[in-house]
Amino acid sequence: MTLIRLTDVTKSYPAPTKGAASVVAVDGVSLEIAEGQICGIIGYSGAGKSTVLRLVNALEIPTSGSVEIDGRDITTLREKDLRALRGDIGMIFQQFNLFDSRTVAGNIAYPLEVAGRSRTEIAERVAEMLAFVGLSAKAKNYPEQLSGGQKQRVGIARALATNPRILLADEATSALDPDTTQEVLELLRRVNRELGITILVITHEMDVIRALADRVVVMEDGRIIESGDVFDVLSAPQSAAAQRFVASIIEDVPVGDQLQTLRARHPGRIVTFTIRDGDVTQADVFAALSGHGVRFELIHGGINDIRGRVFGHLTLALEGEPDAVAQAIRAASRFAPLIEEDSRG
Ligand code: ADP
Repeated sequence: MTLIRLTDVTKSYPAPTKGAASVVAVDGVSLEIAEGQICGIIGYSGAGKSTVLRLVNALEIPTSGSVEIDGRDITTLREKDLRALRGDIGMIFQQFNLFDSRTVAGNIAYPLEVAGRSRTEIAERVAEMLAFVGLSAKAKNYPEQLSGGQKQRVGIARALATNPRILLADEATSALDPDTTQEVLELLRRVNRELGITILVITHEMDVIRALADRVVVMEDGRIIESGDVFDVLSAPQSAAAQRFVASIIEDVPVGDQLQTLRARHPGRIVTFTIRDGDVTQADVFAALSGHGVRFELIHGGINDIRGRVFGHLTLALEGEPDAVAQAIRAASRFAPLIEEDSRG
């Protein structure tokens, strides 16, 4: 069942200065997110990701097009219904946005107080949420006494206090170190799995999409340039724009200074093969190269696990007779798509 549906949504803002063109933050976006799904929106800064989130929780009204939650057009809701809608949508932020003057329990209680729940009900729900995020022992602490990961767990508990069906995450792990990021991502997976909450995350971090999302949407200049299964989009983006973006976030293809350093260290030809689960294995590539009597060395690369499927790049330095090297590269490239330094520009 489709829970969130954007149909041909455009959002423009007035020109920042007189005479300038208006800013089109979101440009003709159509998007459907099924109940229970985790959808990631990824793209450069300024692509329109946050605006999409603000359209989903009705903080912004589209200039044209419609936004439906559970079949209801939210652009025409009255104040009372809007409040009910917001109770159905929780949100977490990069900077956590906790109240420093409230304890952990006080922060989680806040949306329940706004919703006018009774004190007993609030106390019960707060205790339940604290247990869910593993912070029962910190109920009386203040945010400044917590680590970043703990703060985000409080943020998640607060966002879920009113029992929403949708959780919006705005760069929720971007301020955290890698270990803490994994911990928070694991908690978000539990939120989805155990509570059945639909999650929409916006991020510029590849790891977040890889570890969390079922589906990914790539945005550029206010438009969706590609969307689909995470593995398909990250391992074989179709449009040139999506290819550019994905290459920029996948760090296992050497570029720039990194490539210069490799070049200085290794004389022969340097080529990068793309390994994509189902199409090719590393063994296929190595066997094809070995057959031609050239020496090769693995000098860079990484294999990513995208929800149990393998995708990555192997950068090899090859040495030997130029003809033999060329033949070896040709043979291996029959298995795996190849990027050669010279063709990267
Ligand atoms: P992202 O989240 O991908 O970084 P945003 O949705 O924040 O992108 O912004 C998309 C574009 O819309 C940017 O050019 C941004 O400057 C512009 N924009 C966003 N919000 C406003 C606003 N309230 N007023 C004017 N321009 C805005």
